[in-house]
Amino acid sequence: MKNKAFETKAIRQQTDRSEHREHSVPIFATSSYVFEDAEHARALFAKEVHGNIYSRYSNPNNDEFVQKLCLLEGTEAGIATASGMAAMFISIASFLKSGDHIVASRSLFGSTHQILTQLLPRWGITHSYVDVEDPEGWEKAILGTTRMFFLETPSNPALDVLDIEHIVSVAHAHDIIVNVDNCFATPYLQNPAKYGADIVTHSATKFIDGQGRTLGGAVLGKQALIDEVMFMSRHTGPAMSPFNGWVLSKSLETLAVRMDRHCENALKLADFLSTHEQINFVRYPFHSSHPQKELAQKQMKQGGGLVTFEIKGGVESGRKFLDALQMLSLSSNLGDARTIATHPASTTHSKLTEEERKHVGITPGMVRISVGLEHINDIIEDIDQALEATH
Ligand SMILES: *Cc1c(COP(=O)(O)O)cnc(C)c1O
Repeated sequence: MKNKAFETKAIRQQTDRSEHREHSVPIFATSSYVFEDAEHARALFAKEVHGNIYSRYSNPNNDEFVQKLCLLEGTEAGIATASGMAAMFISIASFLKSGDHIVASRSLFGSTHQILTQLLPRWGITHSYVDVEDPEGWEKAILGTTRMFFLETPSNPALDVLDIEHIVSVAHAHDIIVNVDNCFATPYLQNPAKYGADIVTHSATKFIDGQGRTLGGAVLGKQALIDEVMFMSRHTGPAMSPFNGWVLSKSLETLAVRMDRHCENALKLADFLSTHEQINFVRYPFHSSHPQKELAQKQMKQGGGLVTFEIKGGVESGRKFLDALQMLSLSSNLGDARTIATHPASTTHSKLTEEERKHVGITPGMVRISVGLEHINDIIEDIDQALEATH
């Protein structure tokens, strides 16, 4: 399967059929598995033979989902988790201990920011942030105790693009593990492991699910590193449910066609907004106005499904715009088939101070659109009429 195209791998990578010869893998709604005999039980626990013991450790649905993701990301091994945040947390906690230090890009998903600033310090783990416009900052932030670089690209919600290859080269010169949250790009648009990233993390809740139905996450990487994550997961229990593993494995089959349309719609929306008189600026990685368009085109296949823009008139206009929308959903989720509008300053990033928001590129009138799969003309029509209403 390794030499096949992305779409083919996403559809044809399957676990073995049972004696019923089912075409689609069934849901293994079982918490545990039986042993053939005492010797089999002993051998399974001793890891001398491969097999399922208990669904907190592994089960066929999650295995199918993870094996497919590894094939698509180009990583050796992986583990499925109950949510994206479970993936972020164990992918950090498995490698850091008291006294260690982590360097991270400043533009991070809100809960990842909370882990770094509120939770890890309880266990004596400190962090430093690097600004997007400061590529040299990674090298400068390294301490003798730095164990991990953590980054997200494109970033949420400003859609800044970070140079994975450069950051990896700095890290590896100092024996530092690089962990990339690849949620916004998905494995279809960007493969951080190709640029040397050691760990690739996902919230599968977003584009991988694609229809806003399930929570899920994954940690992927080299076998030796994933073994560490597996140890932590086995004994702390952030395991994915078999049902969600089943849903998400099915979802991967259509990821490529969905992402093609998300990206096509998003670029059209960015084009429309860039000439609109009510807009100060628009951000989209593959739009000609994006300052890192060249870098985005080097490391991504397309620009992704999110578009960010600033309405003239600040917070007041941002709120008026949201209230005037007729079809688009007001939600904080993203990566859904339905187009979603979010006002980061008053919702997802409201816990940050004004100064912190400025640092991560969030202006008061900024709106984030997760561009869905409806016809682009209908998406633009709704946004256009809502912009009129902000006059
Ligand atoms: C949503 C999101 C997460 C968290 O994932 P959950 O599945 O909601 O726990 C982490 N990182 C990014 C970039 C996200 O968008």
